[in-house]
Order: sequence, then C-alpha cells, then structure tokens
Amino acid sequence: MNQIIILGSANAVAKIGQDNAHLLIRSAEKQIMVDCGNSPFARVSAAGGSITEITDLILTHAHADHMGNLPLLLMDMWLEKRDQMLTIHGLEITLEKARALLEVFDWQHWAGMFPIRFNRLSDTGNEGFIRGEDCVVSALPVKHLVPTIGLRIAFSDGRVMAYSCDTEPCDNVLKLAQGADILMQEAAGEAKGHTSPRQAGEIAMGAGVRKLVLIHYENRVDQDTIIAQAKNAFTGEVVLAHDLMTF
Ligand SMILES: [Zn+2]
Repeated sequence: MNQIIILGSANAVAKIGQDNAHLLIRSAEKQIMVDCGNSPFARVSAAGGSITEITDLILTHAHADHMGNLPLLLMDMWLEKRDQMLTIHGLEITLEKARALLEVFDWQHWAGMFPIRFNRLSDTGNEGFIRGEDCVVSALPVKHLVPTIGLRIAFSDGRVMAYSCDTEPCDNVLKLAQGADILMQEAAGEAKGHTSPRQAGEIAMGAGVRKLVLIHYENRVDQDTIIAQAKNAFTGEVVLAHDLMTF
C-alpha cells in the first residue's frame, strides 16, 4: 500500500488532464496530501482515494498553484461529512496565509465543521514531522521565491522518495534527495527560484538517486527535449511526471 501518487504534474499553468503539481502519499495508516491542485476532490477520487480519509495536508508554500484551492478542498471534505481531524502542516507564513484564505469563506462558522490542527514547521528542518508506522516524512527549507519546504519520504518497505517542491538548486535539495530511490524534481526552467531540466539532472546525479521524475515542467515545450536535457546531466532513468502516475 505504500505509494506516492502524482495527483497533478503541471507547473502554475494547468491544462486539461494535467493539474497543478500536488501529490498523495498513501500508507496503511496515513493518507497525506501534499499541496492542493485545481480539482483536489476529483483527483483524489480518480486515484482511488477519498478526501474524507486524508489524515494530513502538507502545504509546501503560499503560491496560488499550490494552495489556492484550499478553501474548496476543506469545503468538499465538510460536504462529504468528514468528521476526523485534519492536520495541516506548513511554515508559519504559509499557515498564516492559509488561515487568511479560509477566513474569506467564514470557514469557522460552517455548521458541524470537522476539527483542524495547524502544525507549524520550523524553517531550519523537521526530521520526521509525520511519523506513521509505514512512512516517515521529513522537511527542509528550499530556495524559492517565498519560504518553501521540500520533502523526504521514507517508507517501511525501505524505499525513499524526495520531492523538491519549487526551488532553485540548493544544498538542501541535495540533502533531501541523497541516495533516494526516486527524486521528484521541479523542472520549471532556468529562472530565479526554479530549476531547469538540465539542473534537475545535475541534482539527481549529485544526490545519487536511482530515478529522476521531472514535475512542474513547462508543458508547452516538446517533452522529449525536456527529458534529453535532464539526461545530459544524469545517467540514471528519467521520466516526465503525468497525472495519476504512481510509485
Ligand atoms: Zn511556487
């Protein structure tokens, strides 16, 4: 059951069949959503899950393509009559903005609203901030345009996966990805706060990962070109993320 499902693989500009980048980490005990794309309810259903079963939501940073639909996700959970607590993890500034976003919709007055716990993450590192029997999730700050965290997920079956989230190349991405089986690396392009496909290959090579999954890439560019650019720097397997791809 230990799985990571790519619910959305697009950069900020989604298209039909390709949602904004967000993930679902599934194990027997934990169902962890990472960010929420443009249609979280539909995507989780398509992945065979249910938003009422999500135990944790990690918000990596306060950009609209990563948490703009938070009010809708919570409203859908409420309409689906969820009653178990949801823990929302994020840096202080991210949680502040999430709360402000929810206030717009008066969420605390939704009748019978399920409980929410906000878990403020440290901006210096969070070893095992989610610790289930089958998976442990850790976070480190990465280098984006606003405060952002990247993730490292260790499953009880021994597999380790890393998610860079939005970032330019930096030491902490290398740390998160060190020796991982899979690195899900953003490849939006060479710009401040982002990573090009070639740089993604360099990170994968430097961290010694087995497989590089490019995510949050420019979807109006030829896909073979993106893969080829990453392969110029990385000798391992390179794949382009698509929605509902499962690892
Ligand atoms: Zn961003």
